[in-house]
Amino acid sequence: MKKVLVLGAGQLARMMQLAGTPLNLDVKALDVLSNKVVNPISPEYIYGDLKAGILNADVITAEFEHVAHDILAECEQSGKLFPTSAAIKIGGDRRLEKALLESCNTANAKHYFVHSKADFDKAISHLSLPIIFKSALEGYDGKGQWRLKIAADAEAIWQEMADFMKASTTTVKQGIVAEQMVPFDREVSLVGVRRVNGDVAVYPLTENHHTDGMLSVSVANPVNTVLQEQAVSVFKAIADKLNYVGVLAIEFFQVGNQLLVNEIAPRVHNSGHWTQQGADTCQFENHLRAICDLPLGSTALIRPTAMVNIIGEDTVPNEVFAVPSASVHWYNKGKRVGRKMGHINVSGDNELQLAQRLQSLADILCNKAFPDLSGFAKDYLAKQK
Ligand code: ATP
Ligand code: MG
Repeated sequence: MKKVLVLGAGQLARMMQLAGTPLNLDVKALDVLSNKVVNPISPEYIYGDLKAGILNADVITAEFEHVAHDILAECEQSGKLFPTSAAIKIGGDRRLEKALLESCNTANAKHYFVHSKADFDKAISHLSLPIIFKSALEGYDGKGQWRLKIAADAEAIWQEMADFMKASTTTVKQGIVAEQMVPFDREVSLVGVRRVNGDVAVYPLTENHHTDGMLSVSVANPVNTVLQEQAVSVFKAIADKLNYVGVLAIEFFQVGNQLLVNEIAPRVHNSGHWTQQGADTCQFENHLRAICDLPLGSTALIRPTAMVNIIGEDTVPNEVFAVPSASVHWYNKGKRVGRKMGHINVSGDNELQLAQRLQSLADILCNKAFPDLSGFAKDYLAKQK
């Protein structure tokens, strides 16, 4: 039985454990805040700290990119960490991420790094409004972002960002990336996996909908070949460059028939949760296979599938279970406004059937925990008819 230690003890570690159990993989997690090794399914179960966890593990991986660099260094030294600490750090610092995208010649939004008022003025004069500013470190779910829509707000936004940078306690210097707002047609992401020997498998592009900067719905449809090929070539360029091992997600903006990279996530990703029932091998199992150096599983779409995030609620009406193919995944987390508490996967034999089932879910769930689901379901259904 191989022993896997996941840095981070949230829902992604939990779903890795759920996927790894049938393979006889022993998946434990490090709660980085308490420095205790825990069982991801019942995080109160404690048996040691980082050192014990490293000693005990055959393989170490991460469920988030904001892991402290000293922890990453200690894990890397053991020779058990996949992907590398360099790859994880890139996902946690937008400046490194942009540099990687440039070095791989991948199309992305025009951007400038901002550490001073002079940088800020330069960014504003070289970009056109609207501009989005993102903290270089520690951003997630749309947090640490400022949107400048009218020139009159520039001074106030600069003040907020300057205060934000000053208050930062990060070990690496905090900064801001100023980015051209992209008038995209839609947002899509590619989740793929690479093994030590360079084998690569990718899932079909997933269409993503965000509400207030947070992912609310993802849908995996049969592939659009033109876009899929573009996304796969970006994936290969980045994964090969990083000598990447494990699952890597790439978020894109689609503008016409062109994909611009928004950001990368060196881990299993929320927009890949649909793979739990829309593919033979889900992203969690494929990540474990890759880091344990096992052959990769099929990433083909077996039926159109959508994922709906449950945000800030800890129950759903029982009628949800009556929607054919709907499956509920809870994360065992305390209820908090705006928190990802679980998700629902739903599939159809074809897109029309999936759209009808999404509509049924929207009718049952129509409340604040499912922002925009009813609008999305209605549009998606209309497109199928
Ligand atoms: P997450 O962790 O949920 O992926 P994040 O906090 O890391 O989010 P981004 O993915 O960079 O941040 O941004 C969140 C959302 O804001 C994007 O999915 C997109 O909807 C919007 N957004 C970000 N950058 C741009 C841009 N340059 N142009 C237009 N929209 C943008
Ligand atoms: Mg994002």
